[in-house]
Amino acid sequence: MVATLYIDGAWRQASDGGVHDVHSPHDQSVVATVSQATQADVLAAITAARASFDSGVFTSWSFAERSALVAKIADLLERDLKAIAKKESDDTGKRIIEAEYDIADVVATFRHFAALGLKQHDRSVDVGLDHVTSKIVHEPLGVVSLIGPWNYPLLQIAWKVAPALVAGCSFIVKPSELTPQSAIALMHLIEEAGTPKGVANLILGPGSVVGTPLISDSRVDMVSFTGGLNTGQTIMKAAVEHVRRLALELGGKNPHIIFADADIDAAIDNAVTAAFLHSGQVCSAGTRLIVQRSIHDKVVKSIVRRAGQIRLGGPSDLTAETGPLISKSHLEGVSKYVEKGVAEGATLLVGGKRSEDPAHANGWYYLPTVLDNCNTKMFCVQEESFGPVMTVEVFDTEQEAIALGNDTVFGLSGGVWSTDSAKAARVASALRHGTIWVNDFGPYRPQAEWGGYKQSGIGRELGEHGLGEYLEIKHIWTNNSPSKSGWFSDRGDE
Ligand code: NAD
Repeated sequence: MVATLYIDGAWRQASDGGVHDVHSPHDQSVVATVSQATQADVLAAITAARASFDSGVFTSWSFAERSALVAKIADLLERDLKAIAKKESDDTGKRIIEAEYDIADVVATFRHFAALGLKQHDRSVDVGLDHVTSKIVHEPLGVVSLIGPWNYPLLQIAWKVAPALVAGCSFIVKPSELTPQSAIALMHLIEEAGTPKGVANLILGPGSVVGTPLISDSRVDMVSFTGGLNTGQTIMKAAVEHVRRLALELGGKNPHIIFADADIDAAIDNAVTAAFLHSGQVCSAGTRLIVQRSIHDKVVKSIVRRAGQIRLGGPSDLTAETGPLISKSHLEGVSKYVEKGVAEGATLLVGGKRSEDPAHANGWYYLPTVLDNCNTKMFCVQEESFGPVMTVEVFDTEQEAIALGNDTVFGLSGGVWSTDSAKAARVASALRHGTIWVNDFGPYRPQAEWGGYKQSGIGRELGEHGLGEYLEIKHIWTNNSPSKSGWFSDRGDE
C-alpha cells in the first residue's frame, strides 16, 4: 500500500488507490512510487484545513509557541538533512552536494521565520485622543494552498510552509508531481514536531488533476504559488470569483550587465555560474548577458570556452558540475527554444544539442549553450527557456544598458558589473527587478525579501514581508470613555 498523502493528521493512500512513479532525470529509473490524489482527496484536505483553522486549535497558540514549533522542525530537518537531500537528488537529478546545500537553505529558512515570529508585530497608533486606545494586530490569514515547482522542490515549499506555520495558518501543500519526495519527508517532520491535526496537509499529483480545487475552492483564503507564468495566470483567473488573496513567484529572464570597466575575470566566471548553475533551471538564472561592445569579443570567447568545459553528470558522479534537465518534455522545449533562436538570427557558438556522452544516453542532458547576436525583439531574449541557454546582447552607453535590462515583461532579478561604484548604483536603482546584484550574481539570504516586479509575480517571500503574506491586519479602536457621537440630532418622539 502506498500512503503518501497526509490529510487531517493521517497518512492515507489516494481514495481510488492511484499511484505515480517518479523517474530519475539522470537515467529514467523509478526512484519512488507515491500516491496520486483525486479531487476527492483534495476536498478532504481542504475540509481538514478549514476545520482546524476555524476550531482555533492552532490560531490560539501564541507567536512564540508557533515559533518554537518551527524551530523544532528546523532541528529535525538538520538531523535528517542528508537523507532528505538524497531524495531530492533522486527526484531532480541534481548532484547530492547541491541538494545538500539546498536542504541547508531549507533549515535556514525555518530558522529565519522562527526568529521572526518572536518579534513584536502588533503596534499602537497615536490617534490624538487620550480616551482612545488604537491597536494594529496581526492575525493568521486562514486556509492557504501552497503550490511549488520542481527546480528547488523543498526550498520553494519551505518559503511558504515556515511562514504559514509561524502565522498560524492551516494549509494544503502540493509539490510538483515530478519531485514529491522531499515534501513527504517534511510532512513527517511537521507531524513529529507536534503540529496539531489538520493544520498541515499534503496532496500529491499533477496540477491538471488536483489543481482546480486548490485554486478555486471558496474555503481557501489564499494561494501561494511558485511556478511558470502561464500557471500563475490560470491561478489569477480562478481567484477572481472569491477575490482570493494571491502570492505569486513566477518566471524570470534576468539581465546580467557587464561594463567594460568591470573586474572582467570575476564577471566572466560569475556569468558562467549565473547561466549554467543547475543547468539553467533557476528562476533567477542570469541567462541574458548584456555586455559593453568594447569587451564583447573577449568576454564571449571566454564564456564559450568555459561553457564547453562544463562537466555534466548524474547525482553520484563526483566529477560532474551540473546535471540533467528535469524531463523529456522540458528537454524538447529547450531544444526547440534554441532552434527558434537560431532561426530568428542568433548565432549558436557552443552547445545547442543533447549531450552525446554514452553515459547520458538515458538522461535528459542538454549542453550549455551560448547564442550571440541577440536583440530584444527575439523570442529567445524575451522568453524564459529554464534551461542552460545564454543569450548575448551588446550596448554602448549606460542608458542603453538600463533600457535593455528593463525591456522585458519579467522583473525577478538582474546583475551589474562595474568598478565605478556610482555608475553601478545608478544602474541598480534604474533596473526594475526584485533583486539586483552588484559585482555578484545569485546569492540570497532568508532575511532579505525575494520576489518579482512586473510579470515575475505578486508579493514577496522571505524577509519580513514573507511572513506578512500569511497575516491579516486588524485595527482595533477602543473608546475608554464612551460618550454620544452627537452627529445626528435626537428629536425625541416628534
Ligand atoms: P509549473 O507552473 O508548470 O508548475 C508549478 C506547480 O504548479 C506544480 O506543482 C504544478 O503541478 C502546479 N500546477 C500546474 N497547473 C496547475 C493548475 N492549473 N492549478 C494548480 N496548480 C497547477 O512550473 P514548473 O515547471 O514546476 O517550474 C518552473 C517555473 O517556476 C519557471 O517558470 C520558474 O521561473 C518558476 N520559478 C520561479 C521562482 C521564483 O522564485 N520566482 C522559483 C522557482 C521557479
